[in-house]
Amino acid sequence: MTDAVLIVGAGPVGLTLALELSRYKVPVRLIDKMAMRSDKSRAVALWSRSLELLERAGLSDELLNAGNKVRAANMLAQGRHIARLDFSDVETPYPYALMIPQYDTEAILERQLTSFGISAELGVELVHFVQDSYGVATTLRRSDGTDETSRFSWVIGCDGAHSTIRHKLGLPFVGDTMPIDWTLGDFHMNGSPFGLEELATYWHQDGFIVFFPMAPGRYRIIASLGPSTNQEPIPPSLKEFQEIVDKRGPGGLVLSDSLWTTAFRINERQVANYRSGRIFLAGDSAHVHSPAGGQGMNTGIQAAVNLAWKLALVCRGISDAPELLDSYSSERRPVGAAVIRSAGRLSNLATIRNSSAQQVRNAMFHVIMGLKPMRQVMEESMTEISVGYPKSPLNGVSKMRGPLERIRRATDTPKASYLKRSDTPEVPELDAPDLATLNVQRRRVLPRRELRAEGVPLCVLELQVCCREFLAHRLLDHFVAFIGA
Ligand SMILES: Cc1cc2nc3c(=O)[nH]c(=O)nc-3n(C[C@H](O)[C@H](O)[C@H](O)COP(=O)(O)OP(=O)(O)OC[C@H]3O[C@@H](n4cnc5c(N)ncnc54)[C@H](O)[C@@H]3O)c2cc1C
Repeated sequence: MTDAVLIVGAGPVGLTLALELSRYKVPVRLIDKMAMRSDKSRAVALWSRSLELLERAGLSDELLNAGNKVRAANMLAQGRHIARLDFSDVETPYPYALMIPQYDTEAILERQLTSFGISAELGVELVHFVQDSYGVATTLRRSDGTDETSRFSWVIGCDGAHSTIRHKLGLPFVGDTMPIDWTLGDFHMNGSPFGLEELATYWHQDGFIVFFPMAPGRYRIIASLGPSTNQEPIPPSLKEFQEIVDKRGPGGLVLSDSLWTTAFRINERQVANYRSGRIFLAGDSAHVHSPAGGQGMNTGIQAAVNLAWKLALVCRGISDAPELLDSYSSERRPVGAAVIRSAGRLSNLATIRNSSAQQVRNAMFHVIMGLKPMRQVMEESMTEISVGYPKSPLNGVSKMRGPLERIRRATDTPKASYLKRSDTPEVPELDAPDLATLNVQRRRVLPRRELRAEGVPLCVLELQVCCREFLAHRLLDHFVAFIGA
């Protein structure tokens, strides 16, 4: 029997999870308390790893057609280039950041989900839940005030930074609020010295500003405003934004109209465990951080993919190994923590106020980013290609020992070779009889050719090989394979 899953929150993370579970033929309900979708662009960057993972659901063409490919990032200070990152060197079929408004990403995910017969139920709020060993009893409230009580085997909180589920579970959202106000906006703008394929960040003595090209003549601009006060930050007017751009930018940039502006403070927070019994947290409900690297939504989408295949194995009755579902938090929490650290570091660097410290920062960054290996580390971190799970409880035992083991693991995991779609089976979903051969409690490490020779079903290979998510478990030249009798 297949268990039913309730996904609370139909943002990008909830939609991705619903889509992945539907591909694996797991029944889901997806609810959201909002009455209608937001028209705010919010997250505007889809990075390489997210694009790789969304490819499996057949979304690549539509996403690529709707977005703008940014292939390089420039960093400038005091009128000179201090670094240039070129994503075309990154080992991925998608060596760029795809600039696409969040509402378009959500619309594409939602359309694909509809093809599986699932629609997000808007205007339905989770107001109460109680879990026991067998499931979760929930009360769902419709916008007309009527209540429904339903029971699910699993509940996933994709309910955003102010997560109802996290609050009701009493899970502390540990971290801080940065003491600096920020603003962002989408503008029509002319005069950029860089083409549509390059983003540009300027470290000015007054603060930081970054220009993301969204489409010809359209840019997302993010800027620091200064130390926070007791007041809620207010977004600058178009005229004030133009003044900031004139002061910190390259000169000659003209903002003609603003499509959306907002001001905010940055929270850096995370829960200690993404799992609480039969309830999981994914996306902003589990971690929030600076938008400096544009990775919040990406990290959430990738966590959803990680959880989906594990939950599918359990819901389809193919695995009952506790370590499998527990590994979701063991694997994804460190990734979230690393993103919080690196985005925070970048924001702190960008907002140094002391002018001598700024000089030192600029000089050092210029030297460090002049080194190819350092650029490569940064490129692979931004594109999230270097995400791996070297300490996952699911990993088999490496044959290497001592420092060599660490080095091989650390470099090998992100470098896992990518199999093109044509190398993988057409079957996108998992069929129960095929998966009956899987048993995570008896895991062995097998080379891929051996897996094929053993007649492991192609759809299982898809799960293991096509999904870079799973490839992150690769050790040396082997894949961790869950093969049972
Ligand atoms: C201004 C701004 C700019 C950003 N820029 C970037 C960027 O450039 N790059 C990037 O990667 N990220 C960016 N982010 C972050 C990104 O938008 C979030 O990381 C992303 O939306 C998180 O997705 P999510 O699905 O986890 O949560 P959300 O998108 O917040 O969705 C949560 C959903 O849960 C629903 N919900 C809440 N409680 C309940 C309940 N009890 N019952 C039913 N439904 C409920 C809400 O209505 C909401 O629709 C930005 C965010 C903001 C606000």
